[in-house]
Amino acid sequence: MYIVMLGAPGTGKGTIGKILSNDLDLVHISTGDIFREQINKGTELGKKIQGYIENGALVPDDVVIETVQTRLLEEDVSNGAILDGFPRTATQAEALREFLKQNKPGAKRVAIELDVPDDEIIERIVNRLICTNKSCGAIYNKKTKPPKQENVCDICGSELKRRDDDNKETVTKRLGIYHQNSKDLIDFYRKNNALYSIYPKNLDKAVEEIKNFLEEYKFNIVRK
Ligand code: AMP
Repeated sequence: MYIVMLGAPGTGKGTIGKILSNDLDLVHISTGDIFREQINKGTELGKKIQGYIENGALVPDDVVIETVQTRLLEEDVSNGAILDGFPRTATQAEALREFLKQNKPGAKRVAIELDVPDDEIIERIVNRLICTNKSCGAIYNKKTKPPKQENVCDICGSELKRRDDDNKETVTKRLGIYHQNSKDLIDFYRKNNALYSIYPKNLDKAVEEIKNFLEEYKFNIVRK
């Protein structure tokens, strides 16, 4: 099963994607996380994409598509994946469909759209804190979900940090870019009758509703 998480930055794709990944036993693949790791390691790919990310611009389609295809061919993806932050353009969605058709024939595919008003998104993102321990990656919010101890992860004790691109100026730009592309993207999945939209006001409820949808959609999900 391949689940595409659609939604502007800050709508909860990462948080909900990680919960679903754990509950449904599917690998969580975040293009943003992959890119940030490449930048931190100083790889060729990292150098190529750093400017785009710092400016809140989209990384070119060909680079993103190749990165995701390479990742999807790794062994741990045999069961399917939760794709978080990909596709972001209709070209990427088209490339994903073709890739899955060729390489994972018969695999079920569905898109979940997290739809949150922009003013709420900005408020969420500027208060977002992320665990610096990559294998944990827990997400907090200074106002709505603060850690018990300031800047320390409740789960693993590592330092919490704000992402470099989580400032109001870059967020506004990223939202603008999302809205430019989202209509085509949403239409793409709507046409394929594989789109579920939800306003995730309450996290637990949203996860439950998504699982109900997946069951109705005849995905054989095993609830933990
Ligand atoms: P995210 O962590 O999903 O908010 O992504 C952080 C940044 O990585 C974005 O603002 C883009 O610069 C880049 N990025 C991540 N995924 C994609 C994608 N599918 N297409 C283009 N750029 C992307």
